[in-house]
Amino acid sequence: MSLQPSNNSLQQRNKSHIRLHNLGFPRIGARRELKFAQEAFWKGEKSEAELLATAASLREQNWQRQAGLDLVPVGDFSLYDQVLDLSFTLGNLPARVQGLDGSELDQYFRVARGRSANDSGCNCVHAGEMTKWFDTNYHYIVPEFSADTRFSLNPDRLLAQIEEAQAQGHNAKPVLVGPVTYLLLGKAKDATDSLSLLAQLLPVYAELLKRLAEKGIEWVQIDEPALVTELAPQWQDAFRTAYAALAGSGVKLLLTTYFGQLGENLELACSLPVAGLHLDAINAREEVETTIEKLGTDKVLSLGVVNGRNIWKTDLSVLLDWLEPVAQQLGERLWIAPSCSLLHVPVDLDSEQKLDAEIRSWLAFAEQKLAELRVIHSALNHGRESVAAELAENLAALNSRRTSPRVHNPRVQKAVAAIDASLGERQSAYPQRAALQRDKLNLPLYPTTTIGSFPQTQEIRKARLAYRKGELDAVEYETRMKQEIEFAVQQQEALGLDVLVHGEAERNDMVEYFGEQLDGYAFSQFGWVQSYGSRCVKPPILFGDISRPKAMTVAWSQYAQSLTEKKMKGMLTGPVTILNWSFVRDDQPRSVSCYQLALAIREEVQDLEAAGIDIIQIDEAALREGLPLRRRQWAEYLNWAVESFRITANGVADSTQIHTHMCYSEFNDIIEAIAHMDADVITIETSRSDMELLDVFDEFHYPNEIGPGVYDIHSPNIPSVEQMVKLMRLAAQRIPAERLWVNPDCGLKTRQWSEVIPALKNMVESAKVLRADK
Ligand code: GLN
Ligand code: ZN
Repeated sequence: MSLQPSNNSLQQRNKSHIRLHNLGFPRIGARRELKFAQEAFWKGEKSEAELLATAASLREQNWQRQAGLDLVPVGDFSLYDQVLDLSFTLGNLPARVQGLDGSELDQYFRVARGRSANDSGCNCVHAGEMTKWFDTNYHYIVPEFSADTRFSLNPDRLLAQIEEAQAQGHNAKPVLVGPVTYLLLGKAKDATDSLSLLAQLLPVYAELLKRLAEKGIEWVQIDEPALVTELAPQWQDAFRTAYAALAGSGVKLLLTTYFGQLGENLELACSLPVAGLHLDAINAREEVETTIEKLGTDKVLSLGVVNGRNIWKTDLSVLLDWLEPVAQQLGERLWIAPSCSLLHVPVDLDSEQKLDAEIRSWLAFAEQKLAELRVIHSALNHGRESVAAELAENLAALNSRRTSPRVHNPRVQKAVAAIDASLGERQSAYPQRAALQRDKLNLPLYPTTTIGSFPQTQEIRKARLAYRKGELDAVEYETRMKQEIEFAVQQQEALGLDVLVHGEAERNDMVEYFGEQLDGYAFSQFGWVQSYGSRCVKPPILFGDISRPKAMTVAWSQYAQSLTEKKMKGMLTGPVTILNWSFVRDDQPRSVSCYQLALAIREEVQDLEAAGIDIIQIDEAALREGLPLRRRQWAEYLNWAVESFRITANGVADSTQIHTHMCYSEFNDIIEAIAHMDADVITIETSRSDMELLDVFDEFHYPNEIGPGVYDIHSPNIPSVEQMVKLMRLAAQRIPAERLWVNPDCGLKTRQWSEVIPALKNMVESAKVLRADK
């Protein structure tokens, strides 16, 4: 049933105003101004006052971009991370920075990154742990708890920003991570149960809310994204306790959830004594109706109706068809917003002057998403005809995307439809393959190799930049890259490594490099999204059906192989990782995009094999990252993700050896899926963990070969022969030596040759020691 009220009746029902607000705005600036200011401050090139001035000016610009909203977020801005900001607001500083000299900002950066400006050489503070913010690529600084944790209110930063926003004429809505999510995100450094800190934490929150009320604040956005995850009963109780304690604090709380469905926490969320609830109406659209029922008649329901996680235009007419009846039902109790903070999208599409005009017309960055919300807001409050032109323009853009031959490639769609189980099957099981590979590859026990990249030197970067600017022609660029490859091969031969790599000199980035050569991908110039601190990523935009016009890596690998008698490993990025590090389509399931990528990379695998490359590594660095927030959805994801890998990898002869690489070490809960990938060799990150991480491979009787990293590439330290031998002996207690490889944790592109050579020399030496063990 489509309820299409006439605009008149809508206006009558909604004489009262539906409010428009925002949950957070990207802080880095349209030109990454914050990044450059932070880095200049850390290098001592800018004073604290200059950094703070840049920050204030960014806040001012951001609020201006949000002008006219009924409420603008304050406290979403951060000099590093909003969770770390909150730790400071709550007086929860790790003991190791307390009492150090310098300003509060110096302490802040010491926790954030181990040092502030002018601290160089000081190794006395280690940085706080960093981890992913739910299922995003944003990383926060993990709050640290211990038996000694005492909270105490330190509200000045937030209060000052509120004053700033108010002085600029905005209706400020402070944004805080809520107490339960804060405790859940943190980690105890001793046996302390985080939950036991709740009673101590709540009075500090209550005091903070009181101080906000004194500033004339009406609404506070209190973010509890933990409500979209599976919660143990004691954590559900914590929500009841917390919000009972915060009721009557003098401000209205908008309990804010995002990134997913409330599921079994829906009743809990609706029952808490707050003034309003925000629901992610992109991911939890089907929960809106029940939420309205359960919410009662006195609470505001804020609906996140524009996707804060992707870069696509919203289909405004379709959205309004759904939203108008809701507006009619709720009247002024309805608010609208993006689904989550806009932190996760780039700032402004207007910066993109080089992007293809048609593709550009399909996109919306943060600024454009706010514009969409203004249109929806106006349509709801004043009728669709008040924004007829905008709606028509939106429809035209959407139609162009729906029908564009650049998006839809019947050949690719047919190939995906024709996928069957046989495509993902190797010809024989691992034991038969291993025998054939042993004969063909003739490798020693404990074969040594590296993960792919060698140092990306200044010269390589300069050459690439000059090539991009047109100062270097393609032939000259290729010559320079070939020289780099030759150098890398010579070094590896001199070191005595067993399986060589070409070194990836020609690659800027392991995803972008492939995206640039595949049809169906577009690239922005300024589409930066904060990953952590001053680090930003520019995810490529997967907009259409994926195909591979021609071979992408074969010539480089072939050239590298021609330089040596040793085996040269071909090097590819796998479909799941390409998918997880891109902005992906919203007009088809992720699984379909992944299968398309799988078919394209499969062609590359087969071309490499045909070109005489006998070992091919397919990196799946980001497979784990794609796991859904709720465990019960893991199986479905792992199913298509692993199948995509198998399709990519398994079209080769038994004697061709497939490697995969993963830059993490938590396999406990996904070991079955990893085994099902059935790579002949998997290399993983283990050097920091004394090989305990191999226990799960042992317990699971993981059948194939493993290269547990023995060289921590994140550290400039040179690992000794003894260290690496010790690690590998520990590994050999868990995995038979016949199935072990010796390799670093990850690629070496961020290191210097002067570090890599002695480290790999020791690594090769350690393999010799191990062989003598036998
Ligand atoms: N082959 C890639 C490299 O060595 C792998 C990088 C990664 O796993 N992140 O750089
Ligand atoms: Zn890695």
